[in-house]
Amino acid sequence: MPQKIIYADNAATTAVSRSVLEAMLPFFTEDFGNASAVYKTGRNAARAVLKAREAAAAALGGNTEPREIFFTSGGTESDNWAVKGAAALGAAAVRTAFVQKRHIVTTAVEHHAVLKSCAALEKQGFKVTYLPPDEFGRITAEQVSAAITPETCLVSVMTANNEVGTVMPVAEIGAVCRERGVLFHTDAVQAVGQIPVDVDKMNIDLLSLSGHKLHAPKGIGALYVRKGIELPPFMDGGSQERGRRAGTENVPAIVGLGRALTDAVSDLSERAERLTALRDELIRGLLAIPETRLNGSPTNRLPGNVNISVRGIEGESLLLMLDMKGICASSGSACASGSGEPSHVLLACGLPRELAQSSLRLTIGGDTSAEDVAAIVIAVSESVEKLRSLSPYWQRISH
Ligand SMILES: *Cc1c(COP(=O)(O)O)cnc(C)c1O
Repeated sequence: MPQKIIYADNAATTAVSRSVLEAMLPFFTEDFGNASAVYKTGRNAARAVLKAREAAAAALGGNTEPREIFFTSGGTESDNWAVKGAAALGAAAVRTAFVQKRHIVTTAVEHHAVLKSCAALEKQGFKVTYLPPDEFGRITAEQVSAAITPETCLVSVMTANNEVGTVMPVAEIGAVCRERGVLFHTDAVQAVGQIPVDVDKMNIDLLSLSGHKLHAPKGIGALYVRKGIELPPFMDGGSQERGRRAGTENVPAIVGLGRALTDAVSDLSERAERLTALRDELIRGLLAIPETRLNGSPTNRLPGNVNISVRGIEGESLLLMLDMKGICASSGSACASGSGEPSHVLLACGLPRELAQSSLRLTIGGDTSAEDVAAIVIAVSESVEKLRSLSPYWQRISH
């Protein structure tokens, strides 16, 4: 019998669901037309894109309008567009506000798509404040408020962290930004479909989301841009996406994203409840292993996220052992693995390098069963025992 695979890396990517795949298929074949064309297959494609835009708007709260949704190639593009676009607006503010708005407030635990966009802007003379989180990976609205200056053009704080699953007080941060007249962007790639997100109630001006984190394909995402914000175009060319993101639409992927968003929000609360119970069961099981600790917040946490550090173990070695047992997990962030550098998120939470390097992230999803959770606990326990028994370092520190 082939080995059963337990996929527990849903924060890295997810499988395209059956429902999404079926929604997409006709747009590769019958309705392959260019959405800008006048004939029927093109019109069908255009109609499907509009429907997907309506679905995306609906997933972000009742007051969101389809024209506030711009399809992109994914979370990375949306983050780049939001941060660099808001910076361009800030630099241009000198013409009307007589002040150079060249300051950005963000956090030390953002995804690299935001952090490296900010680093690129620093090279152009922007000032960036990287707010340090508490030990649980959380930033407060008070910290944001204290960091805003008359020069601030953007606050960018993620809705939920991809590594430790910490959920940020985004509604409070949004309220502060609104009161101070500063644009507020949130990277909600991990949050949309997992926890309720409402751009109006949360005072969000710009929001990034990505298809492949919620059972749509890779290479599709969206940026929500509140109406009235004249974000500069990300791609110059044709008039697609109202002239702000040119290029022939990836119609099948857009249709897939629309379906995935509809599916994700329709059963959100039941799924979140079920996942939270499984997650807590998994955390309990793993923390029973000696000298382990939970990373991230015990309470303000994404339903499917578990992140622990296992003293005396290399995260990478543990991953390889789990892979042999058919379990897909990750250590630190996927981008960080291979580089040997410990996760910037865990370091920002105050973990010593050693514990940051010994982290294990398991992100469960809709397919995960109670049996899977039990099997993961056994596999991790056995692997840790094995690795520790082979480690002279562990023998030394554990005595
Ligand atoms: C995955 C991820 C991204 C990047 O999205 P892509 O679609 O893979 O480019 C950005 N931010 C967060 C929080 C993510 O988890």
